Amino acid sequence: MGTALDSRLNDKVALVTGAGSGIGRASAIRFAAEGAKVLCADIDTQAAEGTVGLIAEAGGAADSVGLDVTDQAQMEAAFERAVEQFGKLNVLFNNAGIAGSEWQQTIDVNLTGVHNGLLRGAKFFAANGGGSIINTASVAGLAGLTGPHVTDDPDEIQPNVGAYVAAKHGVVGLTKQFAVTFGRFGVRVNAIAPGYIVTPMTAEARSDDATEEYLISLHPLGRLGQPEEIAAAASFLASDDASFINGVTLPVDGGYTAR
Ligand code: NAP
Repeated sequence: MGTALDSRLNDKVALVTGAGSGIGRASAIRFAAEGAKVLCADIDTQAAEGTVGLIAEAGGAADSVGLDVTDQAQMEAAFERAVEQFGKLNVLFNNAGIAGSEWQQTIDVNLTGVHNGLLRGAKFFAANGGGSIINTASVAGLAGLTGPHVTDDPDEIQPNVGAYVAAKHGVVGLTKQFAVTFGRFGVRVNAIAPGYIVTPMTAEARSDDATEEYLISLHPLGRLGQPEEIAAAASFLASDDASFINGVTLPVDGGYTAR
């Protein structure tokens, strides 16, 4: 017999992008553990299949689909796949993202990719009795990023981080706009702003002791976050426990943005 927590997402079908790794994988596993049927989508189809395998091992229901979030047609196909496979769809976690890339690619994946999901998801949910959309923003969507001191030469400063910060600020804005526009159709749109999380995305930064120590020092809890801690917040926002929460960006950052 399930507990209340086991069954919180029992009647939900969720599409999670970037589900092959890190935060997306942990969230797909958490959603399934709480009773949702989960379509795991990732540009790396094998990685998404790996997540499905982990969910199946734990007794959950999941399927996988290859999805490049920058491609609107693929986004629509993923929605169709979810409905074909599970009969409906009422949660979308727009989570896929990249770091350390050039301007255009960063904007394409981290901002246009989220917009593609919002466009399809908001209209689909509005036409089907409502739903919950969660976007992965970042503390970089709420303020500029700082880094360890590297150089006093302005010519040596790498400006790529600006694309990431711009895209994530854009995600916060899109979250508000879609929440305002689609709220009256029962569509809730919220975002999560993680601090630095222990996933493959941050592996390179964490591999340097001084950089890792600096990143840890930014979080008043004195440590980096785990992907399961973002998954817990995503599962709450996906659930009916968050039924009157719409348009917020929730920092899940160990206090990073509190100072
Ligand atoms: P991750 O471990 O690198 O996982 C991201 C997943 O998304 C990977 O499987 C990646 O595939 C996939 N992906 C990349 N481009 C895609 C595309 N165009 N379409 C579909 N899938 C794509 O990263 P993560 O740390 O879990 O990050 C997840 C989200 O959290 C991102 O939006 C990120 O910006 C955000 N975030 C992360 C942190 C952090 O500290 N980790 C902090 C704040 C916000 P490939 O591996 O093949 O590229």
